[in-house]
Amino acid sequence: MRRKIVAGNWKMNGSKGLVSNLVGQVRSELASFDNGVEAVIIPPALFVDDVVEQAGKKLAVGVQNVACWSSGAYTGEISAAMAKDCGCGFTLVGHSERRQLFGETDEQVATKVEQALASGLVAVICVGETLEERDAGKAEDVVSRQVRKAVADVGNGLWQQVVIAYEPVWAIGTGKTATADDAQAMHAAIRAVLMSLGAPADEVSLLYGGSVKADNAAALFAQPDIDGGLIGGASLDASDFVSICRAVP
Ligand code: 13P
Repeated sequence: MRRKIVAGNWKMNGSKGLVSNLVGQVRSELASFDNGVEAVIIPPALFVDDVVEQAGKKLAVGVQNVACWSSGAYTGEISAAMAKDCGCGFTLVGHSERRQLFGETDEQVATKVEQALASGLVAVICVGETLEERDAGKAEDVVSRQVRKAVADVGNGLWQQVVIAYEPVWAIGTGKTATADDAQAMHAAIRAVLMSLGAPADEVSLLYGGSVKADNAAALFAQPDIDGGLIGGASLDASDFVSICRAVP
C-alpha cells in the first residue's frame, strides 16, 4: 500500500494570521473523514513553528527547501536537520521555481535529497518539463533525467522517505492542468524509471501538481499511478484544500 499524500505548498504566501485561520479549520475538517490521506502543510519556513503548534497529529508539516549542507557558514540557509528539529516531517526538493529562478541544478537537488533523508525527512522531489520541452517531444526524457539524477544516491532502506511530485511547469499557476490520462502516462513512466533503478517502485508515492483544484482533483487521483497531489494556490484556502484531501479515493 502506497502512502496517499496531499501537500499544500504555500510558496512565499501567507502570514501568522493565515496560519491561525487556516490550520485549525483544516485540522477540524480533516477529523470529519478518514480516507487514509496524509495532509501536509508546507508554509514559508518562518511559520513552521506556528503551523506545527496548531497542526495536531493528523496534519504534517514541511519546508519548501533545505540547504545542501548540514550546518556552517551558509548565511540565509536552513538545514534539513533544523527542519526536523522544528517538527517537520517533509521537505520539497527541486521545485521548478527553485530550478528556474534560483538556478538549482540536478546535482544540488541530489545533494538536498541526501541531506533530507539523512535527517529523517521525507523528500518530495519535484520534477517536470517546460512547455518548450513538451512541444519538442522531450517531456519524458527530461523527467526521466531529473528523477535518475535526484535519486542517484538513495540507499537501500531509505526509499520509504522518497516521494516524487510530477509538476509540469506549464501547469503551475496557469489554470492549465495535464489531463488525467497525460498525468497518468507520466506517472507510469516515472515508476518504470524507478523500477529500472532497482528501487521498490510500487511502494514509492507519486504526486501530481499543477493547477490541482477541488473540481479536478478526483479525476487525477483516480488514476492508478497518482497517489495524491502537490497543491499551490488552492492550498491557501482551507475549504479548497480539504476538498482536495477528500478527493483521494
Ligand atoms: P498551483 O497549484 O498553484 O498550480 O501550484 C502548483 C505547485 O507548484 C505546487 O508546488
